[in-house]
Amino acid sequence: MIPEIEELYQEVILDHSRRPRNFGELPDAAVRVHGDNPACGDEIHLAVKFDAAGGLEDIKFTGRGCAISQASASLMTMKLKGKSREEVKNMFRAFHDLVTEEATEVSKTLGDLRVMQGVRKFPQRVKCAMLPWRAVEQALEQGAGEATVSTEPA
Ligand code: ZN
Repeated sequence: MIPEIEELYQEVILDHSRRPRNFGELPDAAVRVHGDNPACGDEIHLAVKFDAAGGLEDIKFTGRGCAISQASASLMTMKLKGKSREEVKNMFRAFHDLVTEEATEVSKTLGDLRVMQGVRKFPQRVKCAMLPWRAVEQALEQGAGEATVSTEPA
């Protein structure tokens, strides 16, 4: 058990890390993104299927890593499934602010994602929390095929 997890919203996070939602393969995915967080050893494979308007019709992931990275991916997929591109981008910014900025008003649209707020005190954990979001950002940019992202500069 990571000591600092005590300070986070541990019940929700542990629940999602133990029983991740939207975990599995997405055979007809349009884009697959492999994300790495070498600082912690987290890995995520994100698969996205777009609807006609370019929104996230379906999104699934597999991967392994710390509780924060896996719970963040689980919570993220629940939140983003069915959302438009614009909504996804707005959510990305709101979540990024949530985990990186001090004393800002937390966007209510984030809902359950707010449980990740505690990571802002732990810079290494911010990378864990952001990993799946980096992957979805890349998926939107890429649109099709396969891609790789890392939390560390190449
Ligand atoms: Zn991690």
